[in-house]
Amino acid sequence: MHEQLAIIGAGQAAVQAAQTVRQSGFEGKITLIGEERFTPYQRPPLSKKYLAGALPRERLHLKADAFYASRGIDLHLGVRAEELDAATRRIRLSDGRTLIYDRLLLATGSRVRRLDVPGVGLRGVHYLRSIDDVDAIAPGLHPGARLVIVGAGYIGLEVAAVARELGVDVTVLEAADRVMSRVVCAQMSDFYAKYHTAAGVRIRCNTQVAEFRGTGAVSAVASAAGETFDCDLVIIGIGVVPNVEIAARAGLHCDNGIRVDTCARTADPRIAAAGDCTNHPHPFAARNVRLESVHNAVEQAKSAAASLIGQERPFTEVPWFWSDQYDLKLQIVGLALEYDEVVPRGDMGGKQFAMYYLAEGRPIAIDAVNSPRDFMHGKKLLAARPRIPAAAIADPAMDLTRFCE
Ligand code: FAD
Repeated sequence: MHEQLAIIGAGQAAVQAAQTVRQSGFEGKITLIGEERFTPYQRPPLSKKYLAGALPRERLHLKADAFYASRGIDLHLGVRAEELDAATRRIRLSDGRTLIYDRLLLATGSRVRRLDVPGVGLRGVHYLRSIDDVDAIAPGLHPGARLVIVGAGYIGLEVAAVARELGVDVTVLEAADRVMSRVVCAQMSDFYAKYHTAAGVRIRCNTQVAEFRGTGAVSAVASAAGETFDCDLVIIGIGVVPNVEIAARAGLHCDNGIRVDTCARTADPRIAAAGDCTNHPHPFAARNVRLESVHNAVEQAKSAAASLIGQERPFTEVPWFWSDQYDLKLQIVGLALEYDEVVPRGDMGGKQFAMYYLAEGRPIAIDAVNSPRDFMHGKKLLAARPRIPAAAIADPAMDLTRFCE
């Protein structure tokens, strides 16, 4: 009798894990349970080309329908896993059915962090995480429309860029003192803020949203300092929280994510977890991390798949991420957590440069703007982590990979 693998969640990590276990020779049944009704899809284009209307919905799909059929992967879509009983290995589904598993992957992802202020329920106030969200937002992005974006993180700024290119009047309100402050250094924040400003975006930092106003539909945003910003629509992008509730209720250790080891294993030998929903040790960080990226979801899912079929494949990859804003492709490699020095490479006045984050003279992260070479070399540099003099980094003609030898 073959084993049954259940996967809760049907996003990036879930699909990768299903593919990897099959490739590895797993012959049992694989069932993906996804609460969204769409064929599993990728999210990055949602705040980029799909929002801009430059990518049809079918192109979001991670795999064609034939992929699932040919590999015997059952998709239960539009169904939520409500409760997990780890002792009896049962999952109660929202359609009343119960699924029994031998192995289980939790790939529940994350959801948007909600802003708890008066008026947040008004029509025209949106979040952006799913196809449905974008389909509700896109019709409002027409020339002359007034958009207020709350939060100047990646998603807020990607949306700002798309909206400006569509002729929308854009204001970004950010509570911190600079844009993308959670993920990049002050010089990078400054570069991006200036780029958006030059494109016509109004950016207001140190601005806390206190209230959305309007009758039925939103017509203004009020700040804690008493300013008002008139608008026709609002998009809130203030981060995400991991979907851990089902795991926590089943008794699994959760702390800013489902706790797993480097092989994506939970404390229950039958259950692994992967993707945005996990909190895990990482060789590139001195502490546990929760990463929100496609690369993390894919690579951790491969580790989880190995664990679920009794193999060991620790997740040790150099992390990377990207963000597209206007004609700037930002590629980030590594984790800029505890750095003590930043060194620019190339011309920050132009559109092609990189920022190197160092700890005790060794690179720990690189932000590469329109510079695929820095990104590719960066992966090598971060794996080897040699000491590199700042003067060598600052010289764009110098091949830094020679320090890896
Ligand atoms: P998800 O893709 O979120 O999938 C989890 C799925 O599980 C969801 O469909 C959820 O509804 C479902 N689910 C949760 N609980 C249950 C339950 N109990 N029962 C059934 N189903 C459930 N990353 C990058 O690297 N680069 C980018 O440029 C980038 N841009 C992004 C832009 C946007 C707008 C967004 C939203 C994300 C972006 N990301 C980007 C992040 C990236 O998409 C995520 O890190 C990735 O999708 C995580 O994959 P996952 O499988 O962990 O979770």
